Amino acid sequence: MARLAWTRLPTADGEGAGPSTSEAADDELLSGAAIESLDYEVIENYAYREEQAQRSKFWVPYYVMLKWLFALLIGVGTGLAAIFINLAVENFSGWKYTATFAIIKHSYFVGFFVYTVFNLALVFSSVYIVTNFAPAAAGSGIPEIKGYLNGVDTHGILLFRTLVGKIFGSIGSVGGGLALGKEGPLVHTGACIASLLGQGGSAKYHLSSRWVRIFESDRDRRDLVTCGCAAGVAAAFRAPVGGVLFALEEVTSWWRSHLMWRVFFTSAVVAVVVRSAMNWCNSGKCGHFGAGGFIIWDISGGQEDYSYQELFPMAIIGVIGGLLGALFNQLTLYITKWRRTYLHKKGKRVQIFEACLISLVTSTISFVLPLLRKCSPCPKLETNSGIECPHPPGTDGNFVNFYCLQDREYNDLATIFFNTQDDAIRNLFSAKTFHEYSAQSLITFLVMFYFLAVVTFGTAVPAGQFVPGIMIGSTYGRLVGMFVVKFYKKLNIEEGTYALLGAASFLGGSMRMTVSLCVIMVEITNNLKLLPLIMLVLLVSKAVGDFFNEGLYEEQARLRGIPLLDSRPKQVMRNMNARDACKNQKVVCLPRVSRVVDIISVLRTNKHNGFPVVDRGQNGESLVIGLILRSHLLVLLQAKVDFQNSAFPCGPGVLNRHNFSDFVKPASSKGKSIDDIHLTEDELGLYLDLAPFLNPSPYIVPEDMSLAKVYNLFRQLGLRHIFVVPRPSRVVGLITRKDLLLEEDNNNVMPELQSTSV
Ligand code: ATP
Ligand code: MG
Repeated sequence: MARLAWTRLPTADGEGAGPSTSEAADDELLSGAAIESLDYEVIENYAYREEQAQRSKFWVPYYVMLKWLFALLIGVGTGLAAIFINLAVENFSGWKYTATFAIIKHSYFVGFFVYTVFNLALVFSSVYIVTNFAPAAAGSGIPEIKGYLNGVDTHGILLFRTLVGKIFGSIGSVGGGLALGKEGPLVHTGACIASLLGQGGSAKYHLSSRWVRIFESDRDRRDLVTCGCAAGVAAAFRAPVGGVLFALEEVTSWWRSHLMWRVFFTSAVVAVVVRSAMNWCNSGKCGHFGAGGFIIWDISGGQEDYSYQELFPMAIIGVIGGLLGALFNQLTLYITKWRRTYLHKKGKRVQIFEACLISLVTSTISFVLPLLRKCSPCPKLETNSGIECPHPPGTDGNFVNFYCLQDREYNDLATIFFNTQDDAIRNLFSAKTFHEYSAQSLITFLVMFYFLAVVTFGTAVPAGQFVPGIMIGSTYGRLVGMFVVKFYKKLNIEEGTYALLGAASFLGGSMRMTVSLCVIMVEITNNLKLLPLIMLVLLVSKAVGDFFNEGLYEEQARLRGIPLLDSRPKQVMRNMNARDACKNQKVVCLPRVSRVVDIISVLRTNKHNGFPVVDRGQNGESLVIGLILRSHLLVLLQAKVDFQNSAFPCGPGVLNRHNFSDFVKPASSKGKSIDDIHLTEDELGLYLDLAPFLNPSPYIVPEDMSLAKVYNLFRQLGLRHIFVVPRPSRVVGLITRKDLLLEEDNNNVMPELQSTSV
């Protein structure tokens, strides 16, 4: 009895790779080989139909109830994850700054040493977790999630260990003071929580339940992951409406109106969870967290009104945002390409060394540069403004005293550079006082932080680009604001408002979001009056950015080999037809009853994931009867229960041998491989009837249909395979809108419409 092949068996949720193979997984991620499409189309084979027939009448209410329950749990889970990350980051930062401030009173050198080592330890923990445990947790995760919702699955992005790696990695990378944020990773975190709930937990870690494992199609999971993305943004910015719009505008490629309700519900749940935690922490139960910091919200203020003269400088902010954003995308694209080709291929150690080196550079720049600045006297304290001067060591507040000798002095560069990100942003947005920052400090910060953000992007740590974008944008926004204040002396202009517009413009210029970003900005600031201004800068910055390159996420998705389908087909597709797209292609088919050995040989020699199945018609002619997926073939070959001696068809009765769930592949797992199949010589000589398992009604297009039309069909229905066939010789019927209405609907159809159908 010869064994055909043997390799490691993956676990049910595909986490068999484990830490020891994470380097291989990393290589796979880098090469883009770990990518395949999802099956959003429902495969109505016998197994599916038998399962449908066996469902009780309570199944549909149970299914709907579970969807809403999951929407609730996604909200609670993402809210709690956001609180945990913020709690940890704020506390680590609090301890770091308390210790450093206490020590620099005696020795700057020792203070610098402690500050650097603290940062290094946190960054090391982050990069170690990512490289050794969860390679898919590196970066923001938004390009991959965008790909998932576009129909492309990247291995590893939605696994349990990716979730754990993302949460703990974010704490290290953000707490370690790198020029990156935790908002993008929170979107990925929300998506992981949603996906794990959808597949009933993680089988590898014995955290799964049969009762909740009813979302067996990629389509259902897609709905949940959409909820997860919205929850991530809602948690990151306490912007529930922004979260819904982010999911709609930025990540999903399709949208159904009734999903809107569930996404909205999830976002609202997140807002409640985060609010409750904040109220609890405000009483000082959470250490450094709660005394003023949670994400970047509750930034109040901003000028109440604006004059028409200000629109010009504001449009200029939009242009600067578009230019700097497009430059950011281009630079990060080059650097990421270079990293992937030369640096990261050299292994984990190089990745760890690289992140630690960047941490050292960041710590040095943020500590040493403020030392070169002079101290200024604190502006007059305003009551109820939330502004404190000087910044008491290690606590929240506005102005950082740093090395200033006088108590009532502050260092403007340290206030934005030597501070937690949330406090730095609050300081830059601050609209209560004028001229806190000198132009020199702002320019120094802008140049250095831009450089750090570009270099940090793409290191092997969880990293979001929202916060660096906001910091860069608000700096040049404030600079423009300073000139406007000088130029238009009589107007009631606040630099903080310009900082906010600058932040919006940079994000617009880099990420190219409009509606969702606009709403997030309004939700952050609670100032509806700024809405038209934010809209103006976003439109200008997006238009300018689009002139040069694609958005950050699209560029990064393409670089990772994720084949995103845009919403519209390319112009040349209008002059091509379906046949042109599959030129010189020799279609690999399988006969209905195939020999096991032949199936194995087809699977070994081809990497395709779908194969047309052909049978003989009554007159002996060849007939295509459907499409069989590679993953389904592998399940059948591994189970062996369907093998038969006869070369003749066997018929249905599938559920006696299989559950429908046997065919379900966990999200973002590698699934089974042909190398996992072990068969004896005898088994290889048997037959397999594929008819009960194939998709009997795949989508079909005539060969001369324009490629643009095929594209729209493919994209809108979220398909994976389409058959191209010769022009049909006859028509058996014709379906119109009215044929698709049920009887009761037909009775309600307008009489004039009915009369036409007589
Ligand atoms: P996906 O990668 O999107 O999950 P897939 O793996 O089935 O789908 P690919 O192997 O990526 O498809 O397709 C690569 C090329 O091979 C495409 O040009 C496609 O048209 C072609 N192709 C796919 N399946 C077959 C097949 N059964 N016979 C011949 N050509 C095929
Ligand atoms: Mg493929």
